[in-house]
Amino acid sequence: MNEWILPGTTGLVMNEPLLWEKGDQGRIGFSMPERDVPRTDPPQGARTRPPDLPELSEVDVVRHYSRLSQWNFGVDSGTYPLGSCTMKYNPKINEDMAALPGFAASHPLLPEHMSQGTLGLMHRMQEMLGEITGLRSVSLQPAAGAHGEYTGMRVIHGYIQKHSGTRSKMLIPDTAHGTNPASAAMCGYQTVPVQSNEKGILSAEKVAELMDEDTAGIMVTNPNTLGLFEENLGEIADIIHDKGGLVYCDGANMNALMGIVDFSCLGVDVLHLNLHKTFSAPHGGGGPGSGPVCVHPDLDPFLPVPRVEKHNDRYRLSEDHPDSIGRLHSFYGNFGVMVKSFAYILTLGPQLKRISQMAVLNANYLRQRIKGVINLPYDRPCMHECVFTDKYQEQYKVNTANISKRLLDYGFHPPTIYFPLVVNGSMMLEPTENEAQQDLDMLVEAYTRIAREAEENPDVLRNAPHLTKVTKLDETAAARHPCLTG
Ligand SMILES: *Cc1c(COP(=O)(O)O)cnc(C)c1O
Repeated sequence: MNEWILPGTTGLVMNEPLLWEKGDQGRIGFSMPERDVPRTDPPQGARTRPPDLPELSEVDVVRHYSRLSQWNFGVDSGTYPLGSCTMKYNPKINEDMAALPGFAASHPLLPEHMSQGTLGLMHRMQEMLGEITGLRSVSLQPAAGAHGEYTGMRVIHGYIQKHSGTRSKMLIPDTAHGTNPASAAMCGYQTVPVQSNEKGILSAEKVAELMDEDTAGIMVTNPNTLGLFEENLGEIADIIHDKGGLVYCDGANMNALMGIVDFSCLGVDVLHLNLHKTFSAPHGGGGPGSGPVCVHPDLDPFLPVPRVEKHNDRYRLSEDHPDSIGRLHSFYGNFGVMVKSFAYILTLGPQLKRISQMAVLNANYLRQRIKGVINLPYDRPCMHECVFTDKYQEQYKVNTANISKRLLDYGFHPPTIYFPLVVNGSMMLEPTENEAQQDLDMLVEAYTRIAREAEENPDVLRNAPHLTKVTKLDETAAARHPCLTG
């Protein structure tokens, strides 16, 4: 590959002062119509000096914000393989749909007879997510993945309380997402860690050792944070159920499994989805989230209220669920996010399965092509993401952080690093289905060059990045003494 083919971050990147530092006295960005009334003095006590605002022309302001926007990096700028985050492309048609005045301007306090369209969309969304997961009772209320976990924990707590009294513990594998133990603890559970086996997944024996009648259940991330499918989940669910517990599955990694796995067949009782990951709504700095919870019909009575229900072709909101855990969000959740994901699902239909297949194929392609130069600790087929470490580069005193910073010079957003915690110096790559083979090849090429640089010129890596707008930052100082005013 030629030197110039790798997309770097050199080129026209403008410096940009603050708006207060820009501009000049007397510059203006508007024009008022000519005065057609007599001039008078301001009333007594009124402000006589103009407010301290920068004086700028329209062009000054447009350039200022356009330049700042170019300093940002997003899925619309390039490859963004941030593991566990599913940074997939957000189709623009979803935004158009969410902006339709009937959706965007509908007030949450409108009476039901004037909200049939929005309620109908939510009801259909519940049905579709029930179909995709196999768990057909659905609440769209939670506002994010972790909020969905908390909701699911509360549902489990409600069910167990009603059927078998109080239980105090929750099993959490060491390959679970970090939010899982936090959600269980917020619900009052004592978390019990479960070690994964040498294959990077849970073994039924280990779970059987730890499961007892004071344990409410297990929270499994599947595929787990190593990007591996929990093959023994069915057997594990039987063990949990035999002792009266319930199985929670963190489904934020659903991008690997759409149209492929029916979670009810795996014995899962509660699962949350991240609409802002799998179903393409923008996230991170890009917008709010939505973390619907899908449950087994036995747990239906415990879902949050209000519920969106259909009676004789009319949709309504019902609070009439005495066992419900109550309300977790003002109004009915983040409706705009639901519209975007609804549009995404309708656009793709049965092709959703192909999305997951391509996401898994892309991750395996990367895994196979990078493993020669960067260490792959679990060398077996992965799902939608794969985890590498800095073991080969250790001898040159180059670590995961150095490698990832250098990736910025090659024009790629770094992967998730130092997570999952079970792997030392981990780098977790999730390419998503969006990347074409050429894009993946360039990423492989970047890692190959970085591996060579580690041997030949490790200082280049230790001092990276070199080509970005701001280069090496003092991260400790940034965290301890943040400067929030520019
Ligand atoms: C992202 C993620 C979460 C948390 O979702 P948020 O919307 O960020 O709260 C939970 N579990 C897994 C596996 C995730 O990838």
